[in-house]
Amino acid sequence: MVDRLVNSEANARRIAMVESCFGSSGQSLAEQGRVLVGEGVLTKMCRKKPKARQFFLFNDILVYGNIVINKKKYNKQHVIPLEEVKLESLRDEGQYRNGWLIRTASKSFAVYAATSTEKEEWMAHIEKCIEDLLRKSGKQPPSEHAAVWVPDNEATICMHCKKTQFTVLNRRHHCRKCGSVVCGPCSSKKFLLRGQSEKPLRVCLQCYDELNRAQSRSIPPNQQRPPAAKATDTVAGASGGESSQDDDSDDEDERNTAEEKHDEPKFYGDGEKTEEINNHSSKDSK
Ligand SMILES: [Zn+2]
Ligand SMILES: [Zn+2]
Repeated sequence: MVDRLVNSEANARRIAMVESCFGSSGQSLAEQGRVLVGEGVLTKMCRKKPKARQFFLFNDILVYGNIVINKKKYNKQHVIPLEEVKLESLRDEGQYRNGWLIRTASKSFAVYAATSTEKEEWMAHIEKCIEDLLRKSGKQPPSEHAAVWVPDNEATICMHCKKTQFTVLNRRHHCRKCGSVVCGPCSSKKFLLRGQSEKPLRVCLQCYDELNRAQSRSIPPNQQRPPAAKATDTVAGASGGESSQDDDSDDEDERNTAEEKHDEPKFYGDGEKTEEINNHSSKDSK
């Protein structure tokens, strides 16, 4: 289906529409061979709580943003290359239903669809795009993924020492390796986590020890450097410089008051009678 849509005018129009909805807050999305496969609203688990986000599935990237005005204006655009994505279905738990994880080396998070059918549709379409991409490129999916952060409100005490109560002064921090919510002293160390950042990142003491052990096992003893060369021992300003919005840049939405009624996601190319699964893309650009 994707091949037949590549050169279609409708596809070009849809992509131009997405671009204009993001305006100057987004990057240019029109590219040779790129197809908008589907779009819709999903609930993304952010640091504080679940929030509605507009998602656009292209055949090679997943784009999402905050909804400023429903169907008209989005901002805080994020672009995730699908080649790096791995999906993982989540079991329904209480209010969290129809969810799955979107995992990449640099960022992993949970999203939730309104119904189980929508979840199936989204997951199937995303998986299909990933599969096609990897088949074309011959690449392997990445094996390491960033931790999924435990939401703030799921931890009232530090998940490492199990003692520190979180307050305005005793802030929550997230271990970048395991995603736990931990207190400052329990996350005073940093470690270089390739794939997530060039700089050492905050990790909990347990992960720090494990990472150090793993590192010394993998490096021959004569080449070993003291851990300080790779891992800095203190977090600058750990006592409070880092605030709750330390990373998840899409976490804050200023005036997302839009109390929209839910629209079902749209997947283009569905319902057209020839669902071409094959990949003979002779007109594949480059
Ligand atoms: Zn602690
Ligand atoms: Zn950890």
